[in-house]
Amino acid sequence: MSGSDYSLPSLREVVDHYGLLAKKSLGQNFLLNMDVTRRIAKVAGNFTDVTVFEVGPGPGGLTRALLEAGARVVAVERDHRCLEILADIQAAFPGFFEVIEGDALKLSPQLAIPKGNIKIIANLPYNIGTALLIQWLSNLDRISSLTLMFQKEVALRLIAKPRTKAYGRLSILTQWLCEGKRLFDLSPKAFTPAPKVTSSVVQLIPKLIDPSEKALLPMMERITQHAFGQRRKMIRSSLKPLFSESKLTELGLNPCARAEELSIADFVLLAKNVSP
Ligand code: SAM
Repeated sequence: MSGSDYSLPSLREVVDHYGLLAKKSLGQNFLLNMDVTRRIAKVAGNFTDVTVFEVGPGPGGLTRALLEAGARVVAVERDHRCLEILADIQAAFPGFFEVIEGDALKLSPQLAIPKGNIKIIANLPYNIGTALLIQWLSNLDRISSLTLMFQKEVALRLIAKPRTKAYGRLSILTQWLCEGKRLFDLSPKAFTPAPKVTSSVVQLIPKLIDPSEKALLPMMERITQHAFGQRRKMIRSSLKPLFSESKLTELGLNPCARAEELSIADFVLLAKNVSP
């Protein structure tokens, strides 16, 4: 089923009918304007031969837009109050929408969708957005894209370049494994309730990376943690537990540089040369 050949009440009516008051503890800022959710579905691209993994469908605004566009959606939602609302959407799109009640931090997309390509699309609960992203980055198997709403400040960190304040662990891990773009911003007014900050939709496309390089992930995490845990320090000091000053020099790195001056390639070089 696609297009407008379904009939559901407006999102606002649904939220009022079920008395769904947003819970801060669950990072709930709902999108009730279908123009906005359709825009996100549109930038997420083509839904042929993929299943969408949506985290936190809530009252289902983004889910509806995805289903309208012809997507198959498997969603994980932690808030039991949303399930009845989502069941109505399921009834309107039979066979296209599965809801799993649970915690997205404990359910990988690959487990939720055992076969085929996966697109992750979500208006993320801000309190666990980066934790979810780090988990997804650690296993990108079968994931063809991630189209995600973050707080703008987090979005800027994901795509930040070296020698900027926003460049850090998250920038390195994300850009090492994916091509990333910030597609558009949404003002707080687009959400109910309105958050304090602007949000951005980011799209990440996993890069084709040699499995032997992917195996460096735990080491990349460890090195970036040391380097940016003390980002104002020179790497000869912040990376001392892992590299001697002479080893840094031997690798062609300036021991007096600070973490933010190192490129992603520099971090990969470090990960390849750390002593076990
Ligand atoms: N997608 C809806 C929309 O755009 O209106 C809701 C987005 S709201 C920012 C985040 C959603 O994630 C809420 O529905 C919330 O209940 C859900 N959520 C929060 N923590 C979760 C978790 N650990 N696992 C799954 N869903 C979660």
